Amino acid sequence: MTTHVSVLGLGMMGSALATALLKAGHHVTVWNRSPARTGPLVAQGALPAGTPAEAAAASPLVVVCLLTDDTVHEVFDTLGDVTGKTLVNLTNGTPAQARELAARAADHGAHYLDGGIMAVPQMIAGPHAYVFYSGDEQAYETHRATLAAFGGTKWTGTDPGRAALYDLALLTGMYGMVVGVLQAFALVRTEHISAEEFSELLVPWVTAMLASAPEMGRAIDTGQHLTDVSSLAVNQAAFPNFTATFRDQGVSPELFVPFQALLDRAIAEGHAADGLSRLADLLTVER
Ligand code: NDP
Repeated sequence: MTTHVSVLGLGMMGSALATALLKAGHHVTVWNRSPARTGPLVAQGALPAGTPAEAAAASPLVVVCLLTDDTVHEVFDTLGDVTGKTLVNLTNGTPAQARELAARAADHGAHYLDGGIMAVPQMIAGPHAYVFYSGDEQAYETHRATLAAFGGTKWTGTDPGRAALYDLALLTGMYGMVVGVLQAFALVRTEHISAEEFSELLVPWVTAMLASAPEMGRAIDTGQHLTDVSSLAVNQAAFPNFTATFRDQGVSPELFVPFQALLDRAIAEGHAADGLSRLADLLTVER
């Protein structure tokens, strides 16, 4: 069904979202702080709005994709009357920020959905893109078909902060992997080994190791950390070899030193026979 949608924020991601909505046949109104960025969207059929309030007034569904949630707060103050509208905030932010924005939206009589985009702009509307949503479930059901223009839609719950939590948790896994991959490249480069060629070994290795994630997850869920695969004692004993090699080869160990400290703490607290899954318990601190 064709509907009216406004998009606030036409950076790389906001422009991709607006383009996807236009391609899906919707009536799209766009606003961006720097007006020049509206040009390519207007050329595709979008209507330009001079202010956030003008954009919000044009549609019952308002998609916001700005740099940070602090920015969203600033723009929120200028939206005017949003009673009965649905605000979908796809800006990267924290669960706490999402809850604050949901409360503000409710104060203004608006429905609020928070979202976490699991895609880069070039993937939007493609088969592998999807977005986590949380917040007002009724609003989600009402607008789900329209939001599907961006890719898959994954509902995570009525706590507005839930989508951001899923988003940040997936990105946490990604950054952990990136840190390891970059450290490995830095290490092999010290012996003039091509990083690109080394990636032919690294990718299948990391992929094979990632296959143990469900088993680790089960251990974390059940609290059964005893292992016959690779104990914390073995890992702790081997880990100084990494930091020593980094230093010997002229690579900074700064990203790995904290992991040594965590392994040391695990042993000191009596978890020598447990597997690496135990570390998730040690990482959990009181809120
Ligand atoms: P860009 O830097 O390309 O765009 C940022 C947007 O925010 C621009 O529209 C910019 O306006 C606007 N903006 C910044 N500060 C202000 C302000 N004070 N007031 C009003 N508008 C402001 O970023 P992206 O489009 O790449 O990212 C947007 C969001 O999407 C981020 O939260 C990002 O984390 C998230 N995201 C991005 C992905 C990506 O791969 N790019 C992937 C998944 C999520 P102006 O043009 O005037 O500067």
